[in-house]
Parts: sequence; structure tokens; C-alpha cells
Amino acid sequence: MWVPVLLHNFILWWDECEVNTAVNAANHRRMDSSGKPSTAQIVVLATSSALTAVFYSIYKSRATTVARLKEAKKVSIDQDLKNLLSETPGRCVPYAVIEGVVRSVKETLSSQFVDNCKGVIERLTLKEEKMVWNRTTHLWNNTEKIIHQRTNTVPFALGSHDDDIAATVRVIRPLDAAELDLETTYENFHPTVQSLSNVIGHFISGERPKGIHETEEMLRLEDSVTGVGELVLDNNLIKLQPPKQGFRYFLTRLDYESLLRKQGNSVRLWRILTVVFGIAACSTLLFILWKRYVHHRESKKERSMLEEFKEQQKKRMRELNVEESSVTPTSCTVCLSRERSCVFLDCGHVCACAQCYDALPAPKKCPICRATIDRVVPLYNS
Ligand SMILES: [Zn+2]
Ligand SMILES: [Zn+2]
Repeated sequence: MWVPVLLHNFILWWDECEVNTAVNAANHRRMDSSGKPSTAQIVVLATSSALTAVFYSIYKSRATTVARLKEAKKVSIDQDLKNLLSETPGRCVPYAVIEGVVRSVKETLSSQFVDNCKGVIERLTLKEEKMVWNRTTHLWNNTEKIIHQRTNTVPFALGSHDDDIAATVRVIRPLDAAELDLETTYENFHPTVQSLSNVIGHFISGERPKGIHETEEMLRLEDSVTGVGELVLDNNLIKLQPPKQGFRYFLTRLDYESLLRKQGNSVRLWRILTVVFGIAACSTLLFILWKRYVHHRESKKERSMLEEFKEQQKKRMRELNVEESSVTPTSCTVCLSRERSCVFLDCGHVCACAQCYDALPAPKKCPICRATIDRVVPLYNS
């Protein structure tokens, strides 16, 4: 019988092969059959990349704003201001910082709720507050909706803190300013009157009104204000107006240093968000690429192993003078003569006859993939 000899050769050949890693890889591959990224991974990658891009662009524009704010020319309101501007080319400082107090030009606005409260900007806001039933989370959420807003302005100027200095800077289009923070002068909440039938109706509709929030905000006379914008001398009138494209117009009750600090903090926040989401996007991408690489390497190893196995089989057929045509696809891969008659588990290969299986040395391993054979199930061809 040439079977034991053949088997011996076969096992010798296998031991020469550096199979263990490849076999483990093959087993692993069967469990995790595709190297393609999962939908969840793609969603995480897409979301984190998109958010990184959005946060980065916000960060970039905020950083530019802060840089320009730092470079803006600090101008103080004094008698020389007019001379300074008339000597400047174009009679204009493209981006200037002015600190001063609010002075009225002609008329003033009076608060509708507070006595002796005069200002130059007055904003009335009515907000409807209600609870809305969220069908997903099964919770009542607070929502606010502005139902009415009206802003009144009168022309105003910024003057020096020193009353002896008459020079003022007229503020043009104050409502165009970013960060126009007004002082809340009046606030009131009018709760909705609830009757029983209303309450039932609200539960059915999923909307429960709470009430109306009324506020009055003002920029008052004598308020200290920092304005950052374009400073021009126009017919003997010094004006602070919205700057050229790309520069932000500021009008705030903060001083210059606090404004700079506040803007700097927001830059930091957007930078942190960009970095965090950038790291998330990069690591997801690296993880997906690594999975692809591992999958590719494993399938390549497995293919080359199978090819080697087939070549070895052909060699043995030549050695034993077995006709290639006499070996059918269902012939046992070890003895090349009998029919394959058992399934090896867990790998699932059907590659040997029962006699060759019995002749395998312990611990018995699959001749194709070298996985340990835990169980063997006989095949019955009928
Ligand atoms: Zn056999
Ligand atoms: Zn196997």
C-alpha cells in the first residue's frame, strides 16, 4: 500500500510550510468573511469628517476675526481725531477700535416700562414658550418661538469719557453689528390660563403652551461701548461704519480686552472641537484601512497556500504515476483514489476519505487548512 508513504510525504510537506499564521488567518477570515467597512463605520467616518470640515471652517474664520481684531488700530476720541483722519490717506482707517460712551444726537428713546430710562436702541421681544411632546423620546421639551420683535433706533454717537472733549463719533447702522449686546431693562412672563378642556386638548395635540415672555432691551445713554469698524471723516463728521468685506463690525458693552478674550475663547472652543472630531475621523479611517489590509493579506496567503497544495498534489501524482484524468474532483486529496467521505468540523472541508482520516496522526488536523479537527461527520452518497 502506498497510502501511508504518501501520507507521510504529505505531512512532511505540510510541516515545511509556514502554515500556522496562514491557517489562523483563514479561520479568522471565515468568521469575519468580508474586509469591507460596515455601514456604522461608514456613517461614523462620514459624520466625523463632515463635522471636522464644518468646525474647521468656523475655527478658521473666528481665528481670522481675532487676528484682525488684534491688528485693528486703537483710536481714542479726542480733539486730534479729526486732524488725524484728515491726514490719513482716504480720510479713513479701515479697521479701528473706538471706546466711548453713548451720546444722543437729537432725540432719545424712552423705556416703555421703566421711568427715566433713556436710550438710543430699544428692542421689544415677545417669545412664546411651550412644551412640545417628543414622540421619539416620550418627553415634553421646552421650546421658544419669537412671535414678535421690534427694534427702534435713533441716531447716536460715541463720545469721550471726559466731558470736556466735544469730539464724537457717529455710529452708522448699529444693527449690522455682530455681538450687539443690549441691556435687559424689563422682563415679564404672562402664563397661559389653563382650563380643564384646554389641558385635555393639549395632551391630544402634543403641544402645551406655557405663556408669553416679554422683554425690553436697550442701549442706554452713557453706556460704555466699544466699537470696531471703519472710521471715516465725511464732511466734518466722524463716522464709525460697517467695515469692508471680511472684517466684522462689533458694537459691544464689553471693553476691548474683554471682547478680545471672549472672541479668543470661542476660537479655542472651535479648535478643540475640530481636533476631537479630526482625531475621530482619522482613527476611523485608519481602522477601516487596517481591516482592509489584514483582509487582503489573509486572502492572499490562503490563495497561495491552496495553489501550493495543488502543485504538491500534481507532483505526487507524477511520482506515483497516477493519471491526472483518473483523479476526479471528488477524489480524496490524500490518497487520490477513494472518494471523499467525511466532513471535518469546524473548518467544514470535505477533502479526505475515512481511511485517510483514520491514518492522520494525532492531534488530527485538516489537510487543507491545518485547522484542528474537533468532529468528523461521515458523508453518505446515495
Ligand atoms: Zn484517502
Ligand atoms: Zn480544513
